[in-house]
Amino acid sequence: MKLRLPFYLCMGLLVATTTSCNNHEQKNAASIGIAKADFGEVDGKKVFLYTLTNSKGNQVKITNYGGIVTSWTSPDKQGKRSDILLGYDSLSGYLAHPPYFGALIGRYGNRIANGKFTLDSVVYTLATNNGKNHLHGGNKGFDKVVWDAATVNDSTPTLLLSYVSKDGEEGYPGTLRVKVRYHYTNDDALEIEYWAETDKATPVNLTNHCYFNLTGDVSNTILDHRLWIDADHYTPVDTTLIPTGEIKAVKGTPFDFTQAEKIGARIASVPGGYDHNFVLNKKDTAVSLAASLSDSTSGRKLEVFTMEPGLQFYSGNFLDGSLKTSIGKAINQHTGLCLETQHFPDSPNEPSFPSTILRPGKQYHSITRYKLSVQ
Ligand code: BGC
Repeated sequence: MKLRLPFYLCMGLLVATTTSCNNHEQKNAASIGIAKADFGEVDGKKVFLYTLTNSKGNQVKITNYGGIVTSWTSPDKQGKRSDILLGYDSLSGYLAHPPYFGALIGRYGNRIANGKFTLDSVVYTLATNNGKNHLHGGNKGFDKVVWDAATVNDSTPTLLLSYVSKDGEEGYPGTLRVKVRYHYTNDDALEIEYWAETDKATPVNLTNHCYFNLTGDVSNTILDHRLWIDADHYTPVDTTLIPTGEIKAVKGTPFDFTQAEKIGARIASVPGGYDHNFVLNKKDTAVSLAASLSDSTSGRKLEVFTMEPGLQFYSGNFLDGSLKTSIGKAINQHTGLCLETQHFPDSPNEPSFPSTILRPGKQYHSITRYKLSVQ
């Protein structure tokens, strides 16, 4: 379902359809729709786990704590279902703050240098939570707050999340009203639609931080996955992972994924591993194919479609085995990877990058679709 109605009108219509569906959804947990279960409590607010089941019986689970996608269960080429995301089956796993597993990221995805930017001649100072830099919205970003949730059961399961980020939160100017719609389609696409409105000019860069492992088993790394990215350029970074401002051609470098290539093939020549923003070739804001990831052993393929101009490819470099899955398996380096659709890191300090400034009266709107299939 494409939404082209104004922000609040559209959200109002969707929420209005909610109550009539809930009872039916809860009674038929395994059937198409949404089942809602208690998941705990954070900041005195109730947290739920929503199970979205499509017509194939495949499931995506999402909690309103951090808008985290906790699991995505789909079949491999033999028909064997397994979970292709790093995540936990209980809230306690998330309260230990794993590195943004499955979470919604905001107000600003990725880094802002030195936690500072100037907007309309005012210098703003943000929380610095990554060395001297600001990362993924600060100490308590959108990944660590409880979102209001409403379920919708139109033809396919849909979860609506909303959050009001206060003026001054983590140092950002303006009250930001954010809505996110997760929609799981019958052809195995998880569509994430974002809206935001502000009452003062502010940077906004929203994304999702799912870690994929298409083998469905965290015992395997993602180094044999093949990746294609529709990007002739990327943004090189300094030692603290802040873009230098250069837009560099990928040709002849380990960043060239314009032909599908195994992630492990050249990773040794990228210091620290891949953790870079790719400048997508797209020239407009249509939802178009940006990347494709495949794993030959399971036969699974994941395609990423987005309206965004950039894609952060992060190869799970900082995973070090200290975190364990819910069944006690070590989550080692490169056992999950992120394909974060976004505007470029540190844009508020790089006037040549596409602007991330949202002004009052304007609407932030973005769609990203992760589509799974089996080859
Ligand atoms: C960043 C990494 C960071 C990771 C945290 C990614 O989006 O690019 O540098 O360590 O998030 O999990």
